[in-house]
Amino acid sequence: MIKTKKEIINLTKNLIKLNTNSYNFKALKIALLEIKKILKDYKFLEFKKNNYESLLFYNFLPKNKKFKLILNGHLDIIPAKESQFFPLIKEERLFGAGSLDMKGGLSVLVYIFKNYANKLKYPIALQVVTDEEIGGFNGTKYQIENNLLSEFVISSEPTNFDIVHKAKGIIWADIIINGVTAHSAYPWRGKNAIELTNKVINKLIKKFSNPKNDKWKTTINLATIKTENITYNKIPDKCILGFDIRYIPEEKKQILKKIKSCLNNYSNLEIKIFESSFYTKKNNAYIKKIKKIIKKITNNTAVLRGANGSSDIRHYNLIGIEGIEFGPKGFGIGSDNEYVEIESLEKYYLILEEFLKNF
Ligand SMILES: [Zn+2]
Repeated sequence: MIKTKKEIINLTKNLIKLNTNSYNFKALKIALLEIKKILKDYKFLEFKKNNYESLLFYNFLPKNKKFKLILNGHLDIIPAKESQFFPLIKEERLFGAGSLDMKGGLSVLVYIFKNYANKLKYPIALQVVTDEEIGGFNGTKYQIENNLLSEFVISSEPTNFDIVHKAKGIIWADIIINGVTAHSAYPWRGKNAIELTNKVINKLIKKFSNPKNDKWKTTINLATIKTENITYNKIPDKCILGFDIRYIPEEKKQILKKIKSCLNNYSNLEIKIFESSFYTKKNNAYIKKIKKIIKKITNNTAVLRGANGSSDIRHYNLIGIEGIEFGPKGFGIGSDNEYVEIESLEKYYLILEEFLKNF
């Protein structure tokens, strides 16, 4: 058994009791205070943007503010039911809102940092943020904007001990299609914007054919179709098609071109959100190292894979800093039965312990 197992479970439970959805500033503040208390022997920097507070604990501040390693964790969760704020242990599983994503993993980060950071000869930091679930712009991204950098970053997102080295990016956009209005009794006088939209839709579906199951592929969700038409006897002259594309990093450079190839001279594109994907090379030296350690501690060969969802790592990746998502095991992120496996928290600790010592 690891020496601070009880403390790690206690911290996870205490954090679960707090309804730290990304808009509950009060609960997020209490959660940050709880971690500050545990790491009271460490120096830290405090950040605040748009009411979102975040912290960066460190052993010593390197001259250029570039750490060797940053451990990154978020306290916020997606909204959950009231009953999930009562942590419950059953068959070595710790149930509760955010237990897996990522209060369990973050609690391990807190204690591994507490137990080791002061003993390490290289600069290491623990980054605790409160807005990852809504984009991470006020936490991780803001700290990066304050020139806090690192050679490598590990985010404690739950990965079942897989190493997530790439994640999809996001595009939310509208295509505005312009037709010509006329009275519906004389359709030849107009150009129906819905019919024109249909052509665009068919092109999009063909270009971005969704896989039938979980494959590493760019996907599309046609989300909304809007016209301003409020009657039956008028030909709509404008239609807006809204969609959500999740693109793989391998396609990052061509993605806009690919979307634009579905347009024609009566339509134009309006990008609402363009979120970067992330990609860390498989042969990154730190990935190689942690892979070996995972094998040693768990007896399993770690899977290197991509993630459909995004994480704060993308903010680092955008400025050329490599990182991974790597976290414990469990089930049911965002569901009513979310849990983290207690044994995996112990193993997670052991893996990180070995990694930090040999970094
Ligand atoms: Zn998460």
